[in-house]
This record gives sequence, C-alpha cells and structure tokens, in this order.
Amino acid sequence: MPTIVLSNRVLTAAGVFAPAALVIEGGVITDILPQDVARSAWPQAPVDDLGDHWLTPAMVDGHTHVALHALRGVLSGDSTRGNVVEDLFYRFESGLDAAEVRAFARMGAWEALLHGTGCVFDHYFHAPAVAEALVEVGLTGVVAPTLQDLGGPFAHASDEGLADVERLDSPSWAERGIVAALGPHAMDTVSRELWRQIADVAQRRELPVHVHVAQSLEEVQRVSGRHGHSPVQELLATGVLDAAPRALLVHMIYADGADLAALRGGRALLGHCPHSAFVLGHPARVDRWRDLPWLVGSDCAASNDAMDVRGELRVVHGLAAWASAGSAAYTRFAGGDSLGGGEAWRERGRIRAAAPELLEPASLLGRVTTTPGTFHPRQLTGTLAPGALANLAVWDAEHPVFWPALDPLRAIVLGNASAALLHVMTRGEWRGERGRFAQSLRRSELYRAHREEASQRLHQRLQRLGLQLAPLGQG
Ligand SMILES: [Zn+2]
Repeated sequence: MPTIVLSNRVLTAAGVFAPAALVIEGGVITDILPQDVARSAWPQAPVDDLGDHWLTPAMVDGHTHVALHALRGVLSGDSTRGNVVEDLFYRFESGLDAAEVRAFARMGAWEALLHGTGCVFDHYFHAPAVAEALVEVGLTGVVAPTLQDLGGPFAHASDEGLADVERLDSPSWAERGIVAALGPHAMDTVSRELWRQIADVAQRRELPVHVHVAQSLEEVQRVSGRHGHSPVQELLATGVLDAAPRALLVHMIYADGADLAALRGGRALLGHCPHSAFVLGHPARVDRWRDLPWLVGSDCAASNDAMDVRGELRVVHGLAAWASAGSAAYTRFAGGDSLGGGEAWRERGRIRAAAPELLEPASLLGRVTTTPGTFHPRQLTGTLAPGALANLAVWDAEHPVFWPALDPLRAIVLGNASAALLHVMTRGEWRGERGRFAQSLRRSELYRAHREEASQRLHQRLQRLGLQLAPLGQG
C-alpha cells in the first residue's frame, strides 16, 4: 500500500508549481499523478495533503565531508594563510578512528537535514562509519571512501579504503539509501598504481569516481613536477574517465581553458563549493565552465562554515558582480581612473550575457537537485519523478521570508528559505515534526545524545593532540 502526498504547488520538471499527487512506496516515488486519479487508484491509501504549501525535492549536497563538522571555526585569522588542509586538517585527522568519524559525521548530517538536504555526496576516511551516521540521522548518500597513498593522514590505508568501497556497494546499504563511489583524494596524493586499481573497481562495479582536482597551487606544482602536466591532464592520463560511468571533479580552481576543453563531451561532472573557496583559496570562475555539467557543494563546516547547500546559490548568482568588481578595470577605477568604472560595468554585462544560467532560479536550483541527482547510476534523487528516492522538502508558502510569494522558485533559491522549511522527507519517511521541523530535531533525544557524544570525543581528541581550539560549548 503506497502513501499519497498531495500539494497544489508541486515543483514539476518544467520548473513551475502545479497541483499533483506523489505516490510513494518503499522509500521511492513510484508515480506522479493528477490528485483525483491518485485518490481513486488507491482509495484505501493514507493521504497526506499539504494544501498550498510548496513541495520540491530535498536538496543534494554534491560535495561534503560531514565528519569535518568537528573543525568548524578552526580556520579563523592566521590559520588560513598557508595550506590548511595539509597543515591543520592532516594533523587533526591523523589516527582518527571509526567511532570518532561516526560521532562527528552525525553532527554534519543534522545540520544538512535542518537546511532541507536529503542526500549528501560524502568523501572521507572510515566511510562505513560516515554511512552509519547518515542513516542514523535520516540522510541518504553517495559515500566515497577517501583513497590516498602518496600523502595525507591515511596514505597507509588505501587497501582498507578500497575494501570499504566494496562493502558499501551492496544491496543492504542501498536499501538504507546509501550507495558507494570511489574517492581518490586528489591528483597529488594518489599514485598511478592506485589509480589503476580505482579504474578497475569503477569499471567492474560501474561506480562513479569523486575526486578533488586542481584545488591548490601545491597540487598543481607537485603534479607538474612529477608528470610535467596539469592535474586535469594527469586525471585524463589515468584513464579513469573512460573506466568509470561518471567522475565528479571538485573545485577545479586552478584549471585553465585547455583543461576545460579537454573535459568537454566526456563523463566529467564538475563541482563548485563557493563559500569554502572563499576560505581556502578563491572561487572558480564557473562562467568559464559552459558546456560542462557542474553541481554545487558545501565542502564542510570546517571551511564553509555552513552546511546549507541551497544557501551557496546566492554566491553563484552574484558571480558576474563580484568577478567584475575584482577586474583590472575596476582596480583602475578605484585607483582614480574614472574610465575604469565604465569598463568594469561592461565586464559585468559580458559575464551575465555569457552565462545567463547563473541568473536563472531554475538553473541554479538544478545545481543542488537534478544535476547531482543523476550522478550515481544506481540512485536517482534531487527530482520529483518516478523511480527517484522520496526525498522531499515542504516550504511554508505563508512564511514572511517568502511574502508576497510572487515567484516561489526565486524565493526558495535566493531567499532565506531554511527558516520556512515545514517538513523534510527522506526515503519515504518524514523527519521531525511538521511546522516545528527545526525545533523538533533540535529537541529530540537522538540529537542530544549525538551532540553529547561528539562533544566528548572532540574534547578528548583535541586534548590528546595538544591542539587549542575555540572552547567547546557545554550541555
Ligand atoms: Zn572537499
């Protein structure tokens, strides 16, 4: 017996809100029908009528490390001067055990859920522990064990990481909303031999690959020193883009026009994490990523500092303005050359004209719903369509953050929409309570137990490492 969810404002594939009924069974949307047709087809089925509230897919966070929630706030002041991933994260991560990863990952998962995220593409060590954490909190995920053998805190454990891929790629995990991906760490920390193994597993199991590419200058220099070409060229040389059904290349900050051209028409999906890039480097110019599919991710609270992937879209929307404000023309204007101001304005117009999709709410929402939602060949999400995971977000159409609600799509994409989340469903189950969604999760015994355990484990870890970070809150 299915459950039927009705709304008069369901976001359709065409990007408009219209009345519809979602038929949900086994955690999956099995059909979308006119409301009267659904009611008469299953007269005994429970009906959940959302009235005029807006129903969309829950968000998909296309790149994150939920366990790094434990390091939120660590990148203040001087700590962001060098390569923090290597200087600080590696030190913290060295020797992390599965129980710690699980405890920290739950906290990241809770925040993601609070913002209407239903699925995360996670990339981390002790990946089965991350998967357990996602299931406990109620998220679904594409979980990639981080694989490295030339550098990084788990360079000794790539065999275990590959074994974790095989463990996670199973029907029992799929039933719980978890599918596996391969997670080579970055282009400078994975040997050609490990790439060969990764390509082999990807091909044999038809699993996608999720990797950091061109994320730091150190990476570019190391790859260039070792192989004489760019990180993207090195990725192409590994053959993994032919072996895997899809490959997600995250950051791509230091990828040039030739790199982008080499990827067009292939199996690459690019990933952009705007707020994280502000902290760790500078944002990629995604207006140059035309004709390449790309998604948006949060990266993690350690570098973001939020887990609201929908909230990232405001930055993407503003690209033409901030890029032109950083142009040589604007710098000349600021230095006293008044002609520079006009040229900077024209530059803003050129970027907007070249990448109009950055201004369109439907296209922006697609970066955190439909585009990531088709990444994994065995898990459809981020869309309201038959066969997709029943991951839903219900928005309070009467909330002040939306008033006067003339353009619901734009209000959800660019407004402070998290405050207006009425309810979230993942895998066919409503999480928290409708109408007091955030409060009900925050007050739940499960959340409080998870927070208590994570705080204790973080405190113990920092003490063992002799790291002095911001004081931990109590209670
Ligand atoms: Zn990352």
